Order: sequence, then structure tokens, then C-alpha cells
Amino acid sequence: MEEALQRFEGELRWGGGLFNRVTWQVRKASPREACGVLLGYQKEGVVWIQEEVPAKNLAQGTGQFFLDPIAWMKAEEIGAEFLIPWHSHPGGCEFPSKEDEALFEDHALIGIAVLNDNDLLLRLWIKS
Ligand SMILES: [Zn+2]
Repeated sequence: MEEALQRFEGELRWGGGLFNRVTWQVRKASPREACGVLLGYQKEGVVWIQEEVPAKNLAQGTGQFFLDPIAWMKAEEIGAEFLIPWHSHPGGCEFPSKEDEALFEDHALIGIAVLNDNDLLLRLWIKS
């Protein structure tokens, strides 16, 4: 049986300036995918994003991403309860693609960022 993916339905809160920074990264990269690593911790059902490490997208072309491993190493150096790789879907779909599902082999949580009009939505997905 395939493992199901669940949308994180709890509250997501952002440390100072991080939400705007991620929004800016998504806008700047469009129509390519932006990516990075969110550093977070969970408290009473709320996921707090306390830092974000922007990453180069090493993939060629649009519609894909390959997160620069240097960014991942930086995130590991900083350390957090959760290291969450995120990337944007410029087409606006908040669901993980088939390729994205492979990320769950290494990560418990992934983030997908989309722009609704001009507002960023960052959706977290969990392997259940
Ligand atoms: Zn994707």
C-alpha cells in the first residue's frame, strides 16, 4: 500500500521577515521554481518557522527543481527540530507532484509555495 500524504492543517507561524522573504524568492524565480529550506519547530500543534535558508535551484528549465546541497548543509549547521525543503509551483498547484512525492523518502515534511493573486500560500505536506 502506498503511503498517503496529508496536508498539514495546523497553524503555521513565521519569524520576523521570513514570510516576506520567501514571497520575494517565489516572485523573483518565477516562472522557474524557487526553493530553500525552512527551519522550524512544533509547539502545541503550531509549526513555527524560525529561519529559512534560500537555495539555488540547480535544475534546468521550468517545472522542476533540484535544491542546491550547499543550502541543505547550511540548514543542518544551523539546526532545528524540522528541516523542511520547500519549493514553489509557479503554476499555482499546491499538491506535490509525483516527483515531489519521492522527497518523502528522505524528509518527513515538505513545503510547496504558491502565489494566490499576490499572497503567498505555503502548504506543508506530511507523510502519514
Ligand atoms: Zn513540485
